[in-house]
Amino acid sequence: MPRSTNIQLAKTYDPKFPDTCIGCGGMAPGASIELRRKDLEGGHVIVQIPACPVCATRLRRKHRVETALTWIIAGIGIVVAQWLLRSYEGPFKKWLAVGIAVIGFVPMVIWRLLFPLEFNMTVLGNTVTYAFRDPAYAQEFVMRNFAAVAEAAG
Ligand SMILES: [Zn+2]
Repeated sequence: MPRSTNIQLAKTYDPKFPDTCIGCGGMAPGASIELRRKDLEGGHVIVQIPACPVCATRLRRKHRVETALTWIIAGIGIVVAQWLLRSYEGPFKKWLAVGIAVIGFVPMVIWRLLFPLEFNMTVLGNTVTYAFRDPAYAQEFVMRNFAAVAEAAG
């Protein structure tokens, strides 16, 4: 079963990516795909991951669909929660609504555990977690950023 390899680095660190395409593994791909994530302080973490032009186009589309789906599921979750709680006036209405909205993401989360994206990035506090589907690529990434990976691991 494919599972992604997660690597944590400090948010301030600028990671070095292997010079191979994240999509097809081709050497010196000559293009890249940008991935940006908001952090809680209102800033952005932006990285450029090498990818050949064909894979870059394909992966950009894939990530856009992923983002759109997330918003659609969140929107449906909010509507369903409001409908289910329309006559409920208890003290935990807000939390129940959040819980119902979150349940909508369960199938998507399970789907992504079974079929992870080629790469992903999550920002939490001062740490950025990079997730790679290809273990060989993840290993190469660790080797290129070894000191920073060791530091982030404490
Ligand atoms: Zn490629």
